[in-house]
Amino acid sequence: MSAAALIDYHIHSTFSEDGRSTPEECARAAAARSLSGIIFTEHLEFVPPPDLEEPAYVPSRVLPAGEYLAAVESLRGVWRGRLSVGLGAELGLEGHNLDALPAYLATSSVAFDLVLGSLHAVRGSLVQCPEYVDPLGPPGAAQLYFERLLVGVRRAAELKACDVVGHLDLVKRCESFGPFRLADHRDLVEDLLRTIVGAGLGVEVNTSGYRQAPGEPYPGLETLRLYRDLGGEIVTIGSDSHSAATVGLESARALDFVRAAGFRYITLFRARQPRFVPI
Ligand SMILES: [Zn+2]
Ligand SMILES: [Zn+2]
Repeated sequence: MSAAALIDYHIHSTFSEDGRSTPEECARAAAARSLSGIIFTEHLEFVPPPDLEEPAYVPSRVLPAGEYLAAVESLRGVWRGRLSVGLGAELGLEGHNLDALPAYLATSSVAFDLVLGSLHAVRGSLVQCPEYVDPLGPPGAAQLYFERLLVGVRRAAELKACDVVGHLDLVKRCESFGPFRLADHRDLVEDLLRTIVGAGLGVEVNTSGYRQAPGEPYPGLETLRLYRDLGGEIVTIGSDSHSAATVGLESARALDFVRAAGFRYITLFRARQPRFVPI
C-alpha cells in the first residue's frame, strides 16, 4: 500500500455551522493518526429564496471563502512535508444551492481541491431525521431521497459543480430506517450510479456510518461493488468529522472496505484533479 493512501477527505471544522474543532485541531489529530492527507470539506449551502415551491433547509451562514482560504493556506505552511492539507467543500445538491453556486464562485477567488456533492434535506427536513423517514416509511423515504439525489447529481454534473458524491445512501442513517437492502432500491441506485460513472464522478466511502445506526459506511459494500461493476473508478475516504476526535478514525478500516469491494486504488485530489494510488 502506498503511504499516501491513508486519507480523510471529509472534515468539518468551525468553518461549518456544525463543526466543533478548529482547522488546527483537526490537522493535529490527522497527523497523530499518521494520515498522509486531509481535505477540509466545509458545508457550502445557501439561504433559499422565499419563493421556493417547498420548504428548504436554511443554513445559519454561508462559508466565508476568503477567511477559509487563508486558514487552510496557513495550515499548509505549518504542515508542509508532513501532512497534505486540502481546501474543499461539501456542496448541498438541493436545487436552490445549485442555483446560487455560480454567483458565489464568481465573487470569491477560492479554488477548491475537492468538492463533494451531497444531498442532506428533502422538503426542508434532514433525511436522517424520523420526521422525514417515518411519514413516508423506509421504502418511500429512500425512493424520494434517491430521486432527489439523482436530480441533484445530474444538474451538478452539467455545471461541473462537484467531483465526488458524498454519503450516497445517507437516508439509512435514521434509526427507524432499519437495514438498507440494495435489492429494495436496485433500479434507482443503478440509475444513480450509472449517472455518476457517466459524468466521471467519484463515490465517497463515508465512515461516519460505522459510528452511527447503520454500523457500515455510506454506501455499503454491495453498492460500492455495483459502482465498480458499472465502471466506477474514483473512490475517496472521509470520516465526516465534526470534531477532531473522529478525524481519520476509520481511514485504515475504510481501505480494507474499498479493497473488499474490488478496488486496487484510492483516489487523491488536488485542484479537483484525481490521482490514483495503490492500496
Ligand atoms: Zn454531508
Ligand atoms: Zn459532511
